[in-house]
Amino acid sequence: MALLRIGTAAARPGEIKFGHLKIGELRDGTRIGVPVAAINGVKDGPLLYIQAGSDGDELNGIGVIKEVIPQLDPGRLHGGIIIISPLNFHGFQQDMHRNPLDNKKTNRTFPGKKDGSITERLAYAAFKYVKKSDLALDLHQGSTSQMIDEVRVRVGSEHSLHDRCLELAKVFGIKYIFDKKGPDGQLARVAPDAGIPTVDPELGGCVGWDANSIRKGIQGVLNVLYYYHLLPGEPKLPTEYIIATEFKEFYADKGGLIKFPIALHDRIKPGSELFTITDMFGVPKQTVYSPIDGILWRKRRLPMVATGEQVCSLGINTHIEGFSPIS
Ligand SMILES: [Zn+2]
Repeated sequence: MALLRIGTAAARPGEIKFGHLKIGELRDGTRIGVPVAAINGVKDGPLLYIQAGSDGDELNGIGVIKEVIPQLDPGRLHGGIIIISPLNFHGFQQDMHRNPLDNKKTNRTFPGKKDGSITERLAYAAFKYVKKSDLALDLHQGSTSQMIDEVRVRVGSEHSLHDRCLELAKVFGIKYIFDKKGPDGQLARVAPDAGIPTVDPELGGCVGWDANSIRKGIQGVLNVLYYYHLLPGEPKLPTEYIIATEFKEFYADKGGLIKFPIALHDRIKPGSELFTITDMFGVPKQTVYSPIDGILWRKRRLPMVATGEQVCSLGINTHIEGFSPIS
């Protein structure tokens, strides 16, 4: 087996090496190196690509990587793992979702552009390694709003790799899956066009770290390593999956404080109260009833809201599936 390289990290069989992927310079001429890891197994097997921190304020994926890597024994690994964390180098420095240098969102710029803006160049550099891989995980979260832990399949049901992506999403082992073709430039949509099954685990949503979401992410990465035979072991999978194929978003008409009678993950029936906006003294101003059956998927982090601000979204068009391996 050969060296496994990403950026300046070059691991011989049985080694873990860390390094940097060099992407240009800051305004003062300081050279930028995005942190990378290469973990090379001792026998042949699949190459898994993982990236975290594509959105610079989404830290749970970075928490997953820093917990998983010390647990790995490359002496038992078949195949290899290459990791970039955090990909949005500049956003991470400033707790910003987008890259502050070009105001672009990384997950709308894949496969990137060699001579483009900084985010396009970061995506281009990362995508070079995605294309060499057999499977890819793009660790995200619902930014700093409150969201359930879920995994997204972004290729659309017509895509030739849809079922492989859905299988990978199920293997990650989180019960909730969102299966809908994503916008242009998403890694989980673009990489399957290059033949790489890719999913976008969304590990909750919070400011800082959420231990529970990180725990699910760690188990998710281990599940992928076990299921695809990179490591010996059995994935821990739920008995059934709840799959939503649409979101319905709700916006405030009135300004005030929001009260939810239900919690994230709760199912709501048509006609039931979804939320009420009160004034500062608790007097109700607007009560919104759900027009549709759905699951409370995401809600705003702050309790106050102005007219036109998003309050929450439901996962709708849901169905339940089990796990069936693709041979
Ligand atoms: Zn994200």
